[in-house]
Amino acid sequence: MRLPALRPLPLGAVRPRGWLLAQLRLQADGLTGRLEQVWPDVGSASGWLGGPGESWERGPYYLDGLVPLAWLLDDAALQRRARRWVEWTLASQQPDGFFGPAVNRDWWPRVVMLGVLEQYHAATGDERVPAFVERFLRHLATHLDQRPFDMWAVARGGEYLAPILATRARTAAPWLADLAERVLAGSTDWSALYRAWPYPRPAARLGWGRVLRHYLPWHARVEGWARRVRPARRTRARSAQSVRRANAAGPLVFYHGTHGVNHAMALRVPAYRAELLDDPAPLADADLAVARLRHDHGSVLGLPTADEHLAGRSPVHGIELCAVVETMRSLEELVRVSGEGRWADLLERVAFNALPAALAPDLCSHQYYQQVTQVEVTRRRRPWFNGGTDGTLFGLEPGYGCCTANMHQGWPRLAASAVQTCADGGLVLVTLLPCTAGTQVAGRRLGIEVDTDYPFGRDVIVTVSAPDGPVEVPLRVRVPGWADNATVTVVGRPIDDPVLEAGFAVLHRRWADGDTVRLHLPMPVRAERAPLADTPEPEDGTVLLRGPLVLALALREQWTALPGPGPLPDWEVRSADRWNVALCADAVAEPGRLEVSEGAVAAVPFSHDQPAVAVRVPAREVPGWRLRHGCAGPVPDLSAEPLGPARPVRLVPYGSTALRVAVFPTVACPQA
Ligand SMILES: [Zn+2]
Repeated sequence: MRLPALRPLPLGAVRPRGWLLAQLRLQADGLTGRLEQVWPDVGSASGWLGGPGESWERGPYYLDGLVPLAWLLDDAALQRRARRWVEWTLASQQPDGFFGPAVNRDWWPRVVMLGVLEQYHAATGDERVPAFVERFLRHLATHLDQRPFDMWAVARGGEYLAPILATRARTAAPWLADLAERVLAGSTDWSALYRAWPYPRPAARLGWGRVLRHYLPWHARVEGWARRVRPARRTRARSAQSVRRANAAGPLVFYHGTHGVNHAMALRVPAYRAELLDDPAPLADADLAVARLRHDHGSVLGLPTADEHLAGRSPVHGIELCAVVETMRSLEELVRVSGEGRWADLLERVAFNALPAALAPDLCSHQYYQQVTQVEVTRRRRPWFNGGTDGTLFGLEPGYGCCTANMHQGWPRLAASAVQTCADGGLVLVTLLPCTAGTQVAGRRLGIEVDTDYPFGRDVIVTVSAPDGPVEVPLRVRVPGWADNATVTVVGRPIDDPVLEAGFAVLHRRWADGDTVRLHLPMPVRAERAPLADTPEPEDGTVLLRGPLVLALALREQWTALPGPGPLPDWEVRSADRWNVALCADAVAEPGRLEVSEGAVAAVPFSHDQPAVAVRVPAREVPGWRLRHGCAGPVPDLSAEPLGPARPVRLVPYGSTALRVAVFPTVACPQA
C-alpha cells in the first residue's frame, strides 16, 4: 500500500452533535424532508418509483443526500422514505443487470444511483447491494462498446470508478481493472484538458448559439423537458457511431469542458485513479486542476465561478449550488485518498462559506447561483452565460432544478466523513465538527466525543471513551494550515511541539476512558487578496477571514415572497443599507488587531439575525460605486471620489448573509 489513505467509518458511525446536529435537523425539517410533497420531480410520479414522471438524474440526486441524512440522524421516517426508492431500484434490475426507469438508457443517472446504493449498503449492510452493483458493472462491461457514454456521461464517466473500486475491494475480480480503463478511455480526459488548458477566458465571450443546436435536442429527449407537456416516452438509443461523432463535435466539447459542475466533479477523478493504481502520482492532476481554475476563474470561496460555465474572476459572476456540493464531495475524496489535511482546509473553506450562503436560514429555499459580492437578490437578467432572470432568487427551483435535487448531499456527506480511521486503526479528525464517532481496535471499543463551536469558536475538545480498557493507537487531529500558534493539550498537558504529519497532529498514547484532547486555534482576523469587481481584468481587493470563515459586510435584509403557484415561494432580498464602502487601509494592514465579538451559536447556526461572530472595521462610503445590471459595478477611481467619513461597519460570516460585499477596496482614512 503506497497510499496513506483514510478509511471512512460506516454511515451512521459518526453522529452529529451541537451546531452540526441543529444544521442537519433544519435540513430534515426543511427542503429535504418536504421535497417529495412539494416538488413533483421527486414525488410519487418519479420514474425512479415506477411512475411516468421525471426519470433522469433528479431522483438519484435527491436520494444521494436523503440516505446519509436519514442515517446520520437515525430518523426512522426519513429512512422509511429512502427505503421506498431503494427497494424500487433494486427490484428494477433486469436479468442482464441493467436497472432504472425504462424510458432512457442513459449511463449518467445510474452511476449516481450506484453511489446512493453504496451509501445505503454502508449504513445497513444490505447484502443485496454488492451483487446488484456487480451485475450492473458486468452489464456496463458488456455493453459499453455498443452504447458508449453520451453527453453528461462522457464528462462524468469517471464517477464509475467509485463503484468499480468498491466492488474491487469486495471481490478483487480482475475484470474490473479492464473496465476501469475502458471507462476512462470512454470519458473526458480531464487531466489532458488541464494540461492543454484551452479555457483561460470566461466562456460567455465565446458565445453559444452553436452549442445549443447540439445540446438542446438531446436534453429535450433524454432529460424530458417535453414531460411537462406529455409523460416521458421511451427514447431510442442512438448508434455507437453517431454518439462518438457527437462526443467529438467541438460545440459539445466546449459545452461540457467549460461546465462548472463538471469541473467540480472532475476534481475527484485523480483520487479514484490514485486509488485504482495504489499510487499517489495521479493526485498531482488535482493540484493542476485547482491551480488552473484558481488562476483564471477563482473566487475567495475556494471554488471557481461558473454560471453555468467558467466565468472568470469577477466576484459578481455566479457560483452554482451543484458546484458547491460536488466540489465538497471531490475534496472529501481527495483528503480520504491522499491523507493530506490541506484538502480538508479547502473543503472547510467551501463548506463553511459557499454552502450555507446558498441556503436560506430555514433551509426551505436555496439559490441556484450565489455571488461573492451580492448586493441584491432580484428577478432580473444578469450578465451571465445562462441562468434566466431567477438565477439568484431563493426558492424551490430557481434557475434550473438540478440544485433542488442535488443540494441535499452537502451537509450530510461532510458530517459522515468528519471522522475516519487510518491504516493503523486509529481515529482521524478530518474536519473539526461536533460529533461522536466510534470504532474497534483489536477487539476493544474506542470512541470519541468532539465538542466544539468551530468554525465559530476556537477550541475543539475531544473526550475519549474506551469502555473495554485502554487502547494504544495514535489519534490524529487536523490542524488547519491557516492556524498559526495552534496548541494541543493531552489530558491537561500541553504538547509543546506537536508532530504534524500531512497537516494532522499525531498523538500517540494508551488512551483510557475519559482522556481528553484540547485543540486551541487562535483566530486573529487575517487578510487575503481577491478580485474586486466586475471588470474584464479585475484588480485585487481585500478579503478578511477569521479561521475558515470569510467575513462579509452584513446588510439588513428585507425578504419579499414573490407571488407564484408553488407551495414554497420564491424570495427576493433587498436592503436599504449602503453596501458601497471601502475599508480603511490602516485597519486592514494589521487585521489581527481588529475587534472580534464572539457570541453563542444560535439555533440556526448560520443565522442572519444573530451571527455567531462579528468584526467591526472602519470604512468610508464610496458614493460613485453603483449598481450595474443588479450587481455591484466597477469600483471608481477612489482618488477622484468624494468619500464619506470613516465609520465602523460590521462584518459577519459570509454564510450568515444573503446580501453582502466580501471583497473590498481600501482607502486612506483620516485619523479620528
Ligand atoms: Zn445545479
